[in-house]
Amino acid sequence: MTFERENVRRLAGYVPGEQPTRAVAKLNTNENPFPPSDAVRAALKEVDGEMLRHYPDPTAWAFRTEAARLHGLTPDHIIATNGGDELLRLALTTFLPPGAPLGLADPSYSLCPVLAAIHGSPKYAVPLHADWSAPADIPRRWNKARAKLAILVNPHAPSGRLTSVDELAAIARAFKGVLVIDEAYVDFVDPEISHNTIGLVSEFDNVLLLRTMSKGYSLAGLRLGYGIGSPGLIAPMLSKTKDSYNVDAVAQKLGEAALRHRAEAVRTWEYVRAERSRMVRELSARGFACAPSQANFLLATVPGSSGTAEGLLRRLAGEGIFVRWFNQDRLRDSLRISIGTQDENSALLTAVDGLMQGGV
Ligand SMILES: *Cc1c(COP(=O)(O)O)cnc(C)c1O
Repeated sequence: MTFERENVRRLAGYVPGEQPTRAVAKLNTNENPFPPSDAVRAALKEVDGEMLRHYPDPTAWAFRTEAARLHGLTPDHIIATNGGDELLRLALTTFLPPGAPLGLADPSYSLCPVLAAIHGSPKYAVPLHADWSAPADIPRRWNKARAKLAILVNPHAPSGRLTSVDELAAIARAFKGVLVIDEAYVDFVDPEISHNTIGLVSEFDNVLLLRTMSKGYSLAGLRLGYGIGSPGLIAPMLSKTKDSYNVDAVAQKLGEAALRHRAEAVRTWEYVRAERSRMVRELSARGFACAPSQANFLLATVPGSSGTAEGLLRRLAGEGIFVRWFNQDRLRDSLRISIGTQDENSALLTAVDGLMQGGV
């Protein structure tokens, strides 16, 4: 006897990356390798138990004001959410009629099809090209499938490939539904590329940007993200579909400090970019093929001489080095490797050298 709804019963559920208690190098869930900034830790020390007696600000006004200031917008363009993941769920609840398909790219963030299934909607996933770029006709294909909501991850996960602002604008212009651009990794984009998507929000009333404090700001444990969109997109989520108190008081306070004192986080992004370049060089020298990445991870195709990617994943785990492997078409021969500290990254390379020498 089961009481689950039929669509939930059939669902496999999202499988989060492992959180091992001990690791030599934990490079499997794209966390920032550095702790949150001093400003955040100072704000945490100031949290007084008494403050927890009261409900938090239901719309996180101070945090939204800080985010709006950062992006040169007004707070009615911002919604704070319990992690970026909550924004994805809210977008489905608010903009996708149950049963109507959710537009996606394939492969992409594996949580999205799960959210669609929970919602009672099929997914309509358009296969990406071999270089992980989106086909130019993706908006027309979503329209034809009658998708009312579509999600594009950019920089793309799990490859790290960046779609340009011009290409995004063309997609937003042609797509008839709401386009969520999941920018979980945008903080790691090389500033020389001048990739700035905020203008899309003013230009297109159907664009919703997702930001998270989890990756760039080292706050994955806090659960805080936000959406940026035209006030017409933000208002129904803010006043109707979100939980009344979706972001707790501590998260609001720490998130505000993190944005206000962003400089320390920015330095970690610079470090990650430098290490990303080094890891591309080092892995390439060992026969791995790395997709060009603007995120804090690399999708590295494992050379045949190292055995299967799954085998390498297991042997690395045996040495306390955790990376991610996706058991799905087009990804099975690759590992997704988060960029860690220099020591962690070097530990990975040393382990790979040892395993390759040992023969497989
Ligand atoms: C990490 C991530 C998110 C958001 O994660 P939260 O921790 O819920 O903020 C969203 N999309 C992608 C692709 C991610 O990797």
